[in-house]
Amino acid sequence: MCHVKRFIERWAADDRFRQALRHDPQAAARRWHLTIDPEAIRPLWDLPPEATDWRHWDMGACDAYPLAAAYLAFRRVRVEAAEALRDISPALPAYRRWRARQVARCHSVFPRAFADALPHAPFACELSLGCSVGCWFCGVGADRLTAHAWYGNGQQWRDILAVLRGLTGSDAGARGLVYWASDPLDHPQFEHFARDFTQAFGAPPHTTTALATQDLERTRRLLPHATAASPLGVRLSVLSVAMLDRIHAAFTAESLAHVELVPQTPGSVLRKVPVGKARLRLTATSPAPAGRVPLNEGAPSIACVSGFLINLVSGHVRLITPAPCSDREPDGYRTIARGEFATAADLEPLVAQMVAEHMRVLPAEHVPLRVVDGLTVRERDDGFELASAHARHVVAGGPLTRGLGQRLAGGCTVAGLRQWVTSFGLPAEVADTWVIELLDSGCLA
Ligand code: SF4
Repeated sequence: MCHVKRFIERWAADDRFRQALRHDPQAAARRWHLTIDPEAIRPLWDLPPEATDWRHWDMGACDAYPLAAAYLAFRRVRVEAAEALRDISPALPAYRRWRARQVARCHSVFPRAFADALPHAPFACELSLGCSVGCWFCGVGADRLTAHAWYGNGQQWRDILAVLRGLTGSDAGARGLVYWASDPLDHPQFEHFARDFTQAFGAPPHTTTALATQDLERTRRLLPHATAASPLGVRLSVLSVAMLDRIHAAFTAESLAHVELVPQTPGSVLRKVPVGKARLRLTATSPAPAGRVPLNEGAPSIACVSGFLINLVSGHVRLITPAPCSDREPDGYRTIARGEFATAADLEPLVAQMVAEHMRVLPAEHVPLRVVDGLTVRERDDGFELASAHARHVVAGGPLTRGLGQRLAGGCTVAGLRQWVTSFGLPAEVADTWVIELLDSGCLA
């Protein structure tokens, strides 16, 4: 199966290979040293011109091609393993409930398939300030690399991990990242950080790097972190066909069996997500390096964390969650709170304060309630609805429902709602229940 995977990696990243395949499949396979007979998996590569990537694979057509069908089954198992990891929630009840609300909110404003796939990882720790790679399409807007965090004897890092583990528990914490707008392999002591992470959470951190070919032996030591049970354990961003050539030459198909190769080449079938730097570049007057770049308009973000974004160099901490890319949130995530720490002893009360303030069951009573950006409140005869292009929440029935919708649209507070319901002789808790239900269903930010 890993040889079919290798064939598809070449097909996805290399447009010259795709052209050659159409012209003479057998010769193309020979020229690129691929051991799979292209005819045995034809439905995976012989797509109509308007159907360019793997989202257009025809499952039914693969039934007549056992090897192609087996490859799809292999991918499905990987997706299911990733989904099982995604469903693990943080241990702290307030954090768990807040995360569930972010999942619901994302389903209110993102396309369904995109929202379903969001992992909502609990934290991301950047070991460096900036990134040396400088991808023009960087979806998280990484700055130029300027500094690395000091590992020293590792105690500070282990203390930070202990604070995070206290919030997430070890199962959810194992889904935390040690990169964001940074590349883990930029840090010369990444392996020390990763070893401590493994000790803290019982599993190595998921690693995505665009520096796989910088030090092949270093990359080789990473590969065992990708397993059938950890399909996102190691992801290698492939920035050029030459880079793919080097990766395929250095590592056997078997050793990459569970490693995800992310085709970011100019001729990739993977469309660029217009977020962060890509959004700036593609909307500015200067064209993107590849000329006309096909965009993935169905993915308005690449942010995957609902939790803490921590930079170990600057000591900045932010509570973030995915949001559709916009002028206000150009990198596709919303910052809910921010602070700074110098030591792990500072970090603990800082994150505890963010949990206490922003992960409440009910918002503070005088803070205006905010309908999620992207949802519009519309009145109905029997109540109101909150709708976006991707979801519709109907709140209907009961004599006060229309009034509730009007008050939400006007930016009411919990205190105001309580006062309003008590004026009808109802207990104030009725207002609290409404607000909690709206928060839990992803209608309020
Ligand atoms: S996409 Fe990744 S590797 Fe490229 S600049 Fe951004 S953080 Fe660095």
